[in-house]
Amino acid sequence: SKCTKNNTFEQGQLVNYGNLELSPAAGVLNYGQGLFEGTKAVRGEDGRLLLFRPDQNAIRMQIGAERMCMQSPSIEQFVDAVKQTALANKRWIPPPGKGSLYIRPLLIGTGPILGLSPAHEYTFLVYASPVGNYFKEGTAPLNLYVNNEFHRTTRGGAGGVKSITNYAPVLKPLLRAKEQGFSDVVYLDSVHKKYIEEVSSCNIFIVKGDVISTPSTVGTILEGITRKSIIDIARDLGYKVEERLVAVDELMEADEVFTTGTAVTVATVGSITYNGRRVAYRTGDGLVSQNLFKRLVGIQVGKVEDKYNWIVDI
Ligand code: PMP
Repeated sequence: SKCTKNNTFEQGQLVNYGNLELSPAAGVLNYGQGLFEGTKAVRGEDGRLLLFRPDQNAIRMQIGAERMCMQSPSIEQFVDAVKQTALANKRWIPPPGKGSLYIRPLLIGTGPILGLSPAHEYTFLVYASPVGNYFKEGTAPLNLYVNNEFHRTTRGGAGGVKSITNYAPVLKPLLRAKEQGFSDVVYLDSVHKKYIEEVSSCNIFIVKGDVISTPSTVGTILEGITRKSIIDIARDLGYKVEERLVAVDELMEADEVFTTGTAVTVATVGSITYNGRRVAYRTGDGLVSQNLFKRLVGIQVGKVEDKYNWIVDI
């Protein structure tokens, strides 16, 4: 769909996957006016095709568009485009338990702009690709590296929204960590270099005693839809959940650590390395993260009652 600034989006149509034609002066290419989202469609055991909270992706894109001076589609337009894309690609939605159709909504400034100002035209599009389970049953827990040299973003920046500009800066620390055998990077806040923020594309939680804690989203951390859902599920299961500043020292002393995101759902962390020190956490059976994983994925595939009204049939 296309939009001219201050106008509503024109209805787009389904087209075969292919290249875009863009002006070299497009706002997205020169000034990074781009936002993306990620959601997935799954096949339930009873044959239903299900989306998980697509309205939350729509709302997050609208908040991002406001921050980046972009025009965004309505919640209805967004959800409708996601549903249509999933339906048109339904033969690519894997069998139950074998993965999902990852759906990528993208909003970009396509209008040409030379001086620094918002583009006058925006394009909203959705594409999709089948993906396997990010972490297969029995996959080894993650080994994370706490990086105190590079930061994802800073206070007042765009870290709280899903701007394309947040992702290229994490490639270097991520590749370095992978070269050293780590699964991913934990970022610290850039002011005190003391509080944990998140992982390259996941949120992070710690468990100590019977309390689950996760960093509060203070504009530097992406407010994950999985994060939010896990907080609700955990509270309903009787856990105490705190959203607050979490110091890296607490991370090192936690009983259990896990990450959340659309792709990973809930992933157990096996070890953290920080300042040359490595700590290993509880893994195996009976973990809080396993309990939360089962409940979340159960809801997503229509196996566990969805009292929250999170799943949407397509
Ligand atoms: N943090 C970052 C930086 C991300 O890119 C993502 C993935 N969208 C997340 C956290 C997790 O968010 P969600 O649960 O909505 O996928």
